Amino acid sequence: MRFSALQILKQGLTGNKGWGPLWRSPAPKAEYDAIIIGGGGHGLSTAYYMAKNHGFTNIAVLEKGYIGGGNVGRNTTIVRANYFLPGNSEFYSHSLKLWEGMEQDFNFNAMMSQRGQIMLCHSDGQRDALVRRGNAIRNQGDDAELLGRADVKRLLPYLNYDSARFPIYGGLMQKRAGTARHDAVAWGYARGADQRGVDIIQNCEVTGIDIENGVVRGVQTTQGAIKAKKVGIVVAGRSGQVAAMAGMRLPIESHVLQAFVTEGLKPCIDHVVSFGMGHFYISQSDKGGLVFGGDLDFYSSYAARGNLPMKEHVMEAGMALMPMIGKAQVLRSWGGIMDMTPDGSPIIDKTHVDGLYIDCGWCYGGFKAVPGSGYSFAHLMATDQHHGPAAKFRLDRFRTGRGLMDEEGTGAQHNLH
Ligand SMILES: Cc1cc2nc3c(=O)[nH]c(=O)nc-3n(C[C@H](O)[C@H](O)[C@H](O)COP(=O)(O)OP(=O)(O)OC[C@H]3O[C@@H](n4cnc5c(N)ncnc54)[C@H](O)[C@@H]3O)c2cc1C
Repeated sequence: MRFSALQILKQGLTGNKGWGPLWRSPAPKAEYDAIIIGGGGHGLSTAYYMAKNHGFTNIAVLEKGYIGGGNVGRNTTIVRANYFLPGNSEFYSHSLKLWEGMEQDFNFNAMMSQRGQIMLCHSDGQRDALVRRGNAIRNQGDDAELLGRADVKRLLPYLNYDSARFPIYGGLMQKRAGTARHDAVAWGYARGADQRGVDIIQNCEVTGIDIENGVVRGVQTTQGAIKAKKVGIVVAGRSGQVAAMAGMRLPIESHVLQAFVTEGLKPCIDHVVSFGMGHFYISQSDKGGLVFGGDLDFYSSYAARGNLPMKEHVMEAGMALMPMIGKAQVLRSWGGIMDMTPDGSPIIDKTHVDGLYIDCGWCYGGFKAVPGSGYSFAHLMATDQHHGPAAKFRLDRFRTGRGLMDEEGTGAQHNLH
């Protein structure tokens, strides 16, 4: 079925009885041309673009839980292309362009809202850094606008402008940045892939990777062995564990990142706002909840829940920036497992095993990367050639030290990126 306003009208008039499931639930076949391990945003978009751009239709996505249950359904939904370093800059630029046409492309409402993101600065040095970043973004062909204090005050009147500790000097705005509904993105890609023949197999955990003489042959799963000519590992926070099944030790640590949402409020925050003096950022969902997040929990963990000290830390930052937030009641908080690399930038590459590919290390910025990553990883898996915008995301940069992309300038400490 094609979704359209006419379809909604038709279904509304006929008792909404015609809506079917968005994707099939097939049993796994004995063999596929390609298997994608992990049915998160990146895995599903990879399958979608392999089918759409490269004509691969005999593909399975194997998901150990349910579609949307991982980080793709746990993030704070921010989409932007305001990265600074060559390598990251062109990749996120490409990804944002895909976001802009994605809903029409897969015919599904992902509630993409380009409401603008404002990164705040609180000192002369930070403002200089934002000017440099803004110039890099514009050189890449994306939009960036430097805002003075008065401009910020006009757009964001609710911030604390009297703070002696964190004075607001201005900000850098990207108008094309914004938010999208996270699980709808997963559903849209799942539906689009399924329509092109991809088998999406839920409750199917990969427990082993079969390799013979350096060539991948398939995978072992909780639903039996499945053969495949190509296998892609796209499991976000579980990357280290799944790569270990192929004898790899990745330069990745898994850490928990938490997010929070308040009760529904009348519209009060029109943009995505990022504090410059602490890791705190906020937007308002279409339901009215204030959605915000902050730093990682600093220790490594596979538990998808967070600790109390980090909650206090995030609340403090929120109160420092916008004291009005103290009146709102937090309804829920949750955590997701982040695959953190030592330079904070991702990996899209082949591995030492023929036919085995890996896409990981998205740290806490992987939602905005969903379309770009799937597009580039599909290209790599289908053609064995690196895709231009993602060509610098090589695994060997951590061994040679050449080509590291330390966007945050924090050095080789995973949990600081
Ligand atoms: C609180 C929070 C806030 C965030 N905010 C943002 C944001 O605002 N903007 C942004 O760009 N990014 C954000 N992120 C990061 C972003 O969500 C992730 O980088 C991205 O979703 C990771 O890729 P994914 O969607 O493929 O991951 P996932 O959805 O986690 O997909 C991986 C899948 O692999 C499956 N899997 C694991 N092991 C196996 C196995 N052995 N067999 C089969 N399947 C397996 C998992 O069950 C999971 O479904 C945030 C993350 C969190 C947790």
